[in-house]
Amino acid sequence: MIRFWNKRFKVGTLTENPEIDEALQALRKQLKDEVARKFAGSLAIRMVDSGSCNACEAECNALSNPYYDLERLGIYFVASPRHADVLLLSGLMTFNMTPHVLDAYKQIPEPKWVITLGACPVMEAPFEKTFATKAPAADHLPVAHHIPGCPPEPLEIMRGLLDFLKKI
Ligand code: SF4
Repeated sequence: MIRFWNKRFKVGTLTENPEIDEALQALRKQLKDEVARKFAGSLAIRMVDSGSCNACEAECNALSNPYYDLERLGIYFVASPRHADVLLLSGLMTFNMTPHVLDAYKQIPEPKWVITLGACPVMEAPFEKTFATKAPAADHLPVAHHIPGCPPEPLEIMRGLLDFLKKI
């Protein structure tokens, strides 16, 4: 046990501390305020992958970790479109997924918004022209906001969400 504590004090804390990241703290505060103002403190997002390489989803997963911790700001990723305010769409609109994306959108109660995430939904990804892809997402859905990047990092996604909240 003594050896453990010796090592613990010698090495110090290895994990990053979100409290000392001022840019992140400022962004978190703005996001929390906007969610409180526009969505009474609770914004529910249904994410749908319409044909991605999964890097965009990995970046979104990071938003739920203790560092970014979006749930503390009132932003939740929900399992059902019926509980959602926003459809967050990643990936290319593939032939096979397009009906399911449209179905998910249909099930979201009004008022609802679509945000596209990454280069794929706007057909700017490296593999956009394949036999399996349809037109850009905006040809199928009323896209309210786009978050660019390939993939966008968690901070960029947070900035994108803030831009969206300010816009609506
Ligand atoms: S935008 Fe880039 S990272 Fe995101 S799903 Fe498409 S190819 Fe992958």
